[in-house]
Amino acid sequence: MRRYDKSIALYERTKRHLAGGVSSNVRYASTPVPLFFARGEGARLYDVDGNVHIDYVLGNGPAILGHAPRPVIEAVARTLADGQVYAAQHPRETELAERLCGLLPGAEVVRFATSGTEAVLMAMRLARAFTGRDKILKFEGHYHGWSDQAYISARPSLNEAGPADEPVPVAGSPGIPASVLQDVVVAGWNDLAALEAAFERHPGQIAAVIMEPVMVNGGAVVAEAGYLAGVRDLCRAKGALFICDEVITGFRVGLRGAQGRFGVTADLAIYAKAVAAGFPLAMVGGRRDVMDTLLDKGVMHGGTYNGNVQSMAAAIAALDELERDDGAVYRDLERRGTRLMQGLAALAAKHRLPMRVQGLPAIFQVFFGGGPALRNYREADACDRDAVLAFQRALQEEGVRINPAGKWFLSTAHDDAIIEDTLAAADRSMATLR
Ligand code: PMP
Repeated sequence: MRRYDKSIALYERTKRHLAGGVSSNVRYASTPVPLFFARGEGARLYDVDGNVHIDYVLGNGPAILGHAPRPVIEAVARTLADGQVYAAQHPRETELAERLCGLLPGAEVVRFATSGTEAVLMAMRLARAFTGRDKILKFEGHYHGWSDQAYISARPSLNEAGPADEPVPVAGSPGIPASVLQDVVVAGWNDLAALEAAFERHPGQIAAVIMEPVMVNGGAVVAEAGYLAGVRDLCRAKGALFICDEVITGFRVGLRGAQGRFGVTADLAIYAKAVAAGFPLAMVGGRRDVMDTLLDKGVMHGGTYNGNVQSMAAAIAALDELERDDGAVYRDLERRGTRLMQGLAALAAKHRLPMRVQGLPAIFQVFFGGGPALRNYREADACDRDAVLAFQRALQEEGVRINPAGKWFLSTAHDDAIIEDTLAAADRSMATLR
């Protein structure tokens, strides 16, 4: 058994003065306690007890180039002595905005923010101001940050959530006022008829439909063929904006995100995480007429750290890496991730475990049990979470770190040898599961 004595002692000490011992609630789920790390490099993390982890959590997405990617940290290091925040513009913002608009589907204009949560708030406010409507439609199981307006039915208790074809919006946390729920409409994802029915129930009131274009937070589900385009068309017909939350999929499922991969363009899109390869940066990009409401209608958006020097430098350097060799980075991610997904599925068959592997090569999830297909949150949620946790713990003992929900994020630092080491570790881990 691996030992975590130092992490356990640090956690006990930390809890005394850092609420809950963590800085983000999602970190509670780690075992035996939220672990403490000393260092990360490439595909590996080193914890304070000296355990080495091949890391497939990658900060829950940002570290697309692995931990401490040399070109990025060197570019950032060169800026450190220039200062951090000016409360004014600087030329790196211009350069990054130009490059992103040249690259991302539908991004005529971008605006920078610091976290995905805030960028989602900006997009929703823009949609409301542009359309003059108040309601936002979101999908069950889709996570768009922890704000009052977004953390609704993100992880619904199915007891309170009502029927699948007309879900009741469920506040995801104490402290979210009931009044907020009035302006949120919830629908089941991957079901055009359900979306159409939701529009019918709120005629002329829905400002925007927001979704994760690949539902990652609710279970690594790729939309059925035609669904994304169908949503876009329905939004257009109903006078609502289509917002893609590409916080996870952006710069991960392809250089141009899920929209590029699946050939659908939203009115607004949100990017964060991988865009700056580990530095804090988020952004909204989209239609000029919608983005222009920031200036024309005085839609408020602020943020002390927005466009800070280091995040801009990091994103520019990350883009240089991700755009290298005409997509070679993404071809490699695709090939290695496919090998990993197929290898895990084959091992599960060998060990007679009812495990399935679902998603895309750069972000996938393992599930135990469940029905024949997992097309939406309710189907994904019906799987056996305890079995996933048991697998996650067994993997941790073998030096492989995955997200406790069973998600695997891949980086360019996970080379072929690391993938094979991972599969060998998974083989040993599965042998302990019965
Ligand atoms: N949207 C999605 C799809 C996300 O996965 C996340 C974070 N996991 C967010 C929004 C919120 O981003 P942040 O944590 O940077 O606030």
